[in-house]
Amino acid sequence: MESRDILEERELPEKEKVLASKRYTTTTAGKVLRETRVAFCDWCGHRLDNSKVTIICGTCGRKLCNSSSCAANYEGRHYCEEDLQRILPLERLHFKIIHGLICGLNLEKIKDLTHCQKESFNSALKELINRNYVEKKGISLFSSYEVLDHGIRAWKTYYDIFTKEDVAHFKDEVTNHIKEENENAVERHNRNDR
Ligand SMILES: [Zn+2]
Ligand SMILES: [Zn+2]
Repeated sequence: MESRDILEERELPEKEKVLASKRYTTTTAGKVLRETRVAFCDWCGHRLDNSKVTIICGTCGRKLCNSSSCAANYEGRHYCEEDLQRILPLERLHFKIIHGLICGLNLEKIKDLTHCQKESFNSALKELINRNYVEKKGISLFSSYEVLDHGIRAWKTYYDIFTKEDVAHFKDEVTNHIKEENENAVERHNRNDR
């Protein structure tokens, strides 16, 4: 067999924002080199499954996994997290505050469970109010905080995106706290029944 008949194949990761490509080259030794580019998610780096629907970010064109943790759906369009943050900014601490309020916790308890500095907590709360995510009701001692429609929309949009690390831990703590409260309430109820 002559050297020019040798065919070499190579698989490489596809470039960002390119769906698929192939390249054939002939080396000086007459060898034919075939390069096939394999698609990976431009956000998390997972190999994309050819049999599934391909999703691209409606703003930047990044290829994304068909999963709610990589492709956020907001008002009927898909976005990568970076572009979603531009359209609908929400930090992890913001998310935690909204989550706590939606779960019926008071602000003091939420502050406790976030384990963050008082100043950062208060400035996050202020940002939530300025962005119309949360509304303060009542005055001074009798004030309470309510999540507005826009805040609920943001919380829902980020729910599957913020699934790891500190946010996951916070969600668990909220769930455990509610469970404990319910158990205490049942215990109190039983005690009063006796
Ligand atoms: Zn994007
Ligand atoms: Zn992905």
